[in-house]
Amino acid sequence: MDMMRRGSLFVLSSPSGAGKTTLARRLIEEDANISMSVSVTTREARPGEIDGEDYTFVDQARFDELVSQDALIEWAQVFGNCYGTPKATVFEKLTSGRDVLFDIDWQGAQQLRQHAGQDVISIFVLPPSRDELENRLMSRGQDDSEVVAKRMAAASNEISHWAEYDYVIVNRDVDESAAQLKSIVEASRLHRERQLGLAEFVREMVD
Ligand code: 5GP
Repeated sequence: MDMMRRGSLFVLSSPSGAGKTTLARRLIEEDANISMSVSVTTREARPGEIDGEDYTFVDQARFDELVSQDALIEWAQVFGNCYGTPKATVFEKLTSGRDVLFDIDWQGAQQLRQHAGQDVISIFVLPPSRDELENRLMSRGQDDSEVVAKRMAAASNEISHWAEYDYVIVNRDVDESAAQLKSIVEASRLHRERQLGLAEFVREMVD
């Protein structure tokens, strides 16, 4: 019997540079039943980023329009730019029983918990140390040094929200962390309340 499962919202947060994006990509590649929520943002695309895939890049006027149309589940300002999660595609996936992965900050995670409560499984990714975080931000080479300094300052703020999350991964080794993330997703799917039709399945078995 193919039991229907209500889609879950997996939220991944971390200070930037902790390896969250790599972990998210690995999970999406290896798990056909989970897909990434593509956010809209007013920030400039980085080299190599694809519009509509990494983000949907919009100007401030378009972002404001989406907010006023109530088209975003959550939105927040991060590093002076606006980021938000579009409602339409996310709801479509969830109602068809598919899981969605959100790479969003603590402000977005708080808003998602308010909207979707028990369907939200949140995971915080910590870097192995502050020095390592700084190294990763610098070696990424995508942002200038002023931006790196700003992000280091913001890291402490983001990390201060770690205890609001259900699970915490310390990203010492990317393979190990990817396996841990996969375990969290798989265990969450087996949660009694997330397996719709389970009571009926068991009733049929024992009757
Ligand atoms: P970046 O500019 O490095 O891609 O992302 C900066 C921060 O914004 C990251 O912490 C990322 O998780 C967060 N972020 C990306 N999309 C969203 C979104 O739709 N909503 C919220 N609240 N944060 C987001």
